[in-house]
Amino acid sequence: MSSEFDLIKRYFTRTAPDGYLGVGDDCALLPIPSGRSLVTSTDLLLEGRHFLSDIDPFLLGHKTLAVNVSDLAAMGAVPAGSLLGLAVPDVDHAWLQAFSEGFHAFAEACGCPLIGGDTTRSVDGIVISVTVMGHVDPKTVLRRDAAVPGDDIWVTGELGAPDVALALLQGRLPHDAQLLAATRPALEAPQPPWRFAQRLGGVGHAALDISDGLAQDLGHILRASGCGATVYYAKLPIHPGVASLAPSVQHHAVLAGGDVYQLCFTAPSSQRERLHTMANEEGVRLARVGVTTTEPGLRILDDNGKQIILESAGFDHFGDRA
Ligand code: ADP
Ligand code: MG
Repeated sequence: MSSEFDLIKRYFTRTAPDGYLGVGDDCALLPIPSGRSLVTSTDLLLEGRHFLSDIDPFLLGHKTLAVNVSDLAAMGAVPAGSLLGLAVPDVDHAWLQAFSEGFHAFAEACGCPLIGGDTTRSVDGIVISVTVMGHVDPKTVLRRDAAVPGDDIWVTGELGAPDVALALLQGRLPHDAQLLAATRPALEAPQPPWRFAQRLGGVGHAALDISDGLAQDLGHILRASGCGATVYYAKLPIHPGVASLAPSVQHHAVLAGGDVYQLCFTAPSSQRERLHTMANEEGVRLARVGVTTTEPGLRILDDNGKQIILESAGFDHFGDRA
């Protein structure tokens, strides 16, 4: 039987970068460049609710950090460090090894080292809480309330795959091994555009990461900014695996499907060229999908200019579907 300290040492202690104080003291220290503000966010993931019990632990380690780094990206922040709260019902070394490797691999890739946390035994199931910290120029931070009527609306990456993968895994869509293989990486190994996002401050106006579905998440920007929007379905960057599905299934996956961890942001039309250059340089797919309007509300139009109406706008933990 391992002690809590053995587990922390074995799985969660890595050499901290220069200028940091990492795992081992009462608190961690991380440097913030002068003139920048600390930006922080936390997320809670419960077994059975946010991840399936049989998920590959390496991918889970990646995803728990990636969903938090996605929040930093949504503010245009530079990742700087992370904290991990972990409660497990028992000590499963193979699981801890794979989980921590997945976490550390992404942490190293995006410069968000694990510098502290807490480890305890849970009563039931695995509970994971990740806190991320980053830094941002407070003058150009990307807030939800900063969209202006007439802004272009942009989406990074692709839409639809995580929702389709989840529906296949949960049996809500008929078994299709090929479609599952094509869509599953987007669900289990999200890749938020954290590098591109750091260059978005001062270029874009408002931004957020798509976690509960494009329609619902864009709605947050519109309400906070006091404007509306028109989005053209044909311009949305739809994952190729999803494009062949029946319209109702596809519309739901693309517009209401969560777990995307890509950005939706607005920017003045004068920034189009610069944004395309930035996206090319960072290897990010970027699509201009619509425009913000003075008229309130979100209108999503199909090829014929007809409005697409969704049965449910997106995921809500306290809504009917939760
Ligand atoms: P304390 O009792 O002072 O809260 P702990 O014994 O809980 O300290 O933790 C010892 C050290 O290990 C601290 O630096 C803490 O941040 C770190 N730590 C504990 N659990 C984790 C974890 N899951 N991931 C990263 N660091 C952790
Ligand atoms: Mg503690």
